[in-house]
Amino acid sequence: MSRSHGEFELIRRLAARVGECEAADVVGIGDDAAAVLRDGKWLLLTCDIAVEGRHFRLGKAAPADVGWKVASANVSDIVACGGKAEHALISLGVPPHVSEDQLEALYGGIAEAAQSYGFFVLGGNVSRSQELIVDVFMTGTAQRFIPRGGARPGDRIALSGPLGDSAAGLELLDVRQRAAANDHENRLIRSHLRPRARDDLVESLQQGASAAIDISDGLSSDAGHLAEASGVRLDLERSRLPVSPDLQAFARSRDAAHWKWVLHGGEDYQILFTFPREHDPVFEAAGIAVVGEVRAGHGVYLDGEMLIPEGWDHLAE
Ligand SMILES: [Mg+2]
Repeated sequence: MSRSHGEFELIRRLAARVGECEAADVVGIGDDAAAVLRDGKWLLLTCDIAVEGRHFRLGKAAPADVGWKVASANVSDIVACGGKAEHALISLGVPPHVSEDQLEALYGGIAEAAQSYGFFVLGGNVSRSQELIVDVFMTGTAQRFIPRGGARPGDRIALSGPLGDSAAGLELLDVRQRAAANDHENRLIRSHLRPRARDDLVESLQQGASAAIDISDGLSSDAGHLAEASGVRLDLERSRLPVSPDLQAFARSRDAAHWKWVLHGGEDYQILFTFPREHDPVFEAAGIAVVGEVRAGHGVYLDGEMLIPEGWDHLAE
């Protein structure tokens, strides 16, 4: 397979092979989850995979961390569409070097997530493989489907919390084991290994969001997807982007500005969303940071300068 076209060209080619479903009660490829309207509610469908050596390394992440995280990534995609996670199926690829005890620990992490987010694991399947693969298929429901494409000029742009902590945690894991030298580094590592999907936001998103996406690949990449799907320009203000004290301390310790991690780091699973101004009170009450404004045009701008996507590329070697 030629890699030269990248992830989105590959998805376009594969989608063309299966054909698009044009039905009005279906949302197909291009959002965080697909959706089918059933009895007046949206049934959300999503899947996300964790591949050893690609998304995690055993020895750096405990098996339970791997289970928690892949479950959280799926819940996050459901949340980004305004839904609550309900059911999951799990496909495992099991290599010879992973023991049954490790697999049980992995399922322990999935069970913790199921308990915490309130979904149920209903089944799955297992196969031999070269590396450990955990593929989760998850369903959820939403009263209203919140798309990436609903932002309109004049809407506010909001971000549910600080970004960059997970990417900084990953860098720390590269040079350390799970326990780091100090508390702020430990919290950054935990942000990477145990991210929390923002299921607490679903009600407010249902009340007022016009568009939403979860930040899994980095703000510069994911904001671009929302802008493109909505056919608008996003104007972000640097001074309004929330930055954690832990990331600030980490950046200082490396004599670097924290922006590299904030703008391009992935896997924080915060929600970037837009809402019409009349819903200000809903999001003020939820303590959500307004970080910019939707305008006519296209692309993502930070303090008036174009923000070039430098986030995670799923097919990069
Ligand atoms: Mg997503």
